[in-house]
Amino acid sequence: MSTAPTNPLTSAQATLQRVADRIDLPVGVRAQLAQPERTLEFSIPIKMDDGSVRVFAGNRVQYSTARGPAKGGIRFHPQNDRDETTALALWMTLKTAVANLPLGGGKGGVRVDPKTLSANELERLSRGWVQRAFPFIGPGKDVPAPDVYTNPQIMAWMVDEYSKLAGQPTPGAFTGKPLDRGGIAGRETSTAVGGVEVLTELMQQLKRDPGQTTVAVQGFGNVGYHTARLLHRAGYKIVALSDSHGGIRDKRGLGMDPDNVMHTKQEKGLIDGCYCVGTVCDCDNYEQISNTQLLEIPVDVLVPAALEGVVTADNANRIQSKIILEMANGPVTAEADVLLARRSITVVPDILANAGGVIGSYLEMRQNAEGSTWSEERFTNELTPTIRQAFRDVWAEAQRRQTDLRTGAYALALGRIAEAFEK
Ligand code: NAD
Repeated sequence: MSTAPTNPLTSAQATLQRVADRIDLPVGVRAQLAQPERTLEFSIPIKMDDGSVRVFAGNRVQYSTARGPAKGGIRFHPQNDRDETTALALWMTLKTAVANLPLGGGKGGVRVDPKTLSANELERLSRGWVQRAFPFIGPGKDVPAPDVYTNPQIMAWMVDEYSKLAGQPTPGAFTGKPLDRGGIAGRETSTAVGGVEVLTELMQQLKRDPGQTTVAVQGFGNVGYHTARLLHRAGYKIVALSDSHGGIRDKRGLGMDPDNVMHTKQEKGLIDGCYCVGTVCDCDNYEQISNTQLLEIPVDVLVPAALEGVVTADNANRIQSKIILEMANGPVTAEADVLLARRSITVVPDILANAGGVIGSYLEMRQNAEGSTWSEERFTNELTPTIRQAFRDVWAEAQRRQTDLRTGAYALALGRIAEAFEK
């Protein structure tokens, strides 16, 4: 098997084809899902603070609107390109179907390292993306949200730009906004909350005890940090954490409080090899590890929560966890999937594990359409049963077909999308 970096679109399409073959998906449905409905690629010229002009490559892919308006985040990342965005848009199409939301799937991006831009440059880039995509997005058509290295502030700039171009306030054009700009209480943590609900359901099925379960989390952003924090709160032992610079491992396996690690990261700028509570640090029982090492340490649950393609044919046989909870999109390649299944490692697929985010976005869309402000309680009361039902539907589909959870989730989603094509 190849050692070249895996193209996420190749991987996404390989899995789609494998499941389509298995469930005898009608040829017409396959043909409609073989490529996106619409792909936009554009250049975004930005005046930099020093007066020079730089041009960034932006995109938006609307993979399918068969079940409703396209929905999916916008990623600002130096490696972003059309194939990555297309793969992410395909996964969004499947994810909204797994969660049974009246939405399709889309995704967008800009090829940029946002850490190198000033706040003003970032604002101009965010507004520039909207100016290019404006004719094709908006409520009822395509509603973007945050993804890697985009956040509520960026959504606020984008919704402001959209509203100016539309000539009226249009908060429903984006989700993941700040609370005072039409955002909804609970959205920021909804991806993590959903992931924890899914894992809780799985643990019940497998009759496992969270208190006896060790976890390693890769990625310490919105999804990784909140997932680690909530799992710690639920009694799991968080024994390793990492961000793009590297990570920390608890050699004793007793578990750490992710909030303490976050405080240390905020003070020192990186996840340090010491574990600190207040000013007291223990550097003997903790070690610095790389992102690669984190994936391969012996734990019960591995949570990739950063980028796609981190578990590949090259390292799949070195993975020592029993469960992989895919909080990132596409962290396990199609080739790796086959190898992990052979070793009976349970992979909870991204289109189920991280669906809490898009469920949260859908609730924000409903709040904006109503012109109201939902309480966090109302939000949670909708989110929790929806994600639990998604797990139960996927579990039942996998049991019925005597297959793994990814095949079950894809089969469920493809069945629902096929029904929409028929209408
Ligand atoms: P984020 O920008 O908040 O955080 C990204 C994290 O990944 C950071 O901690 C960063 O340091 C780390 N990272 C970046 N490159 C890395 C590398 N090479 N190795 C290890 N860590 C690295 O992004 P996020 O919103 O937390 O998204 C993370 C993943 O979750 C992505 O795959 C995204 O598509 C997916 N996701 C996000 C949401 C959401 O609501 N934000 C919803 C569903 C899925």
